[in-house]
Amino acid sequence: MKIYKEIQRTCKSTYLDKTFCDICKLEIKNNDSRTMDDIIIESELGNDYGEYGGDKEVLSFDLCRKCWNDKLVPWFKDQGANPQSENVNW
Ligand SMILES: [Zn+2]
Repeated sequence: MKIYKEIQRTCKSTYLDKTFCDICKLEIKNNDSRTMDDIIIESELGNDYGEYGGDKEVLSFDLCRKCWNDKLVPWFKDQGANPQSENVNW
């Protein structure tokens, strides 16, 4: 027979509190639950060795909408990139 007793545990967990733009350093605020201003540019470069595992480096930048529109998009276009644009409604 096992007898269980109830204990209270205190645990710490991490959650995303704030995000700052890596270019202008301003906080990226989602002013309400309907705003979506999260722009993440991320690369994952590495090797996959199948059953032996793998390795990769994940490099990411967080950007605000203003820096994305005023700096990154023009820079990509200046480099000759043509963005794909799609409007999504749900
Ligand atoms: Zn910014």
